[in-house]
Amino acid sequence: MNLNSRLNAIVLKIKKMGYSLTPQRLEIIKIISESKNHPSATDVYNKLKKLYPMVSLNTVYKNLSMLASLHEVKEIKIMQNSVHYDGDISLHGHAICEKCGKIIDVEIDEFDFKKKLIENYHIRNYGVEFYGLCDYCHKEESPAEIASHL
Ligand SMILES: [Zn+2]
Ligand SMILES: [Zn+2]
Repeated sequence: MNLNSRLNAIVLKIKKMGYSLTPQRLEIIKIISESKNHPSATDVYNKLKKLYPMVSLNTVYKNLSMLASLHEVKEIKIMQNSVHYDGDISLHGHAICEKCGKIIDVEIDEFDFKKKLIENYHIRNYGVEFYGLCDYCHKEESPAEIASHL
């Protein structure tokens, strides 16, 4: 599914659910559907502010949770109650670095995933999270180990 059809699908759903489509809301949907780096509400807010300087962070929060409740955006809870958002709702998991908060997409085998589920079960939401250290933070934490490899 390309980005445009993704954007259209979200817009259609919003209208179908009876939500109004304000210019700010449309821009939030655009930002999140085009993002590849799992932004936080603040990241989305900082982008949106450039076009709509009067918008509040709370508006961004409300819109992102609305999109999450419609299952059009995925919430990824990382450390210290910080929430990030993913506009890519295709089947995948996340590896989250507990030190720097970096989020990496993890491929999930769709067939393997589905065959283990109860037959005729209708999934509406899921979360597959792995917590650990990214390669960079891991090297930072164990410099001695790296030196021994040189
Ligand atoms: Zn890290
Ligand atoms: Zn992702």
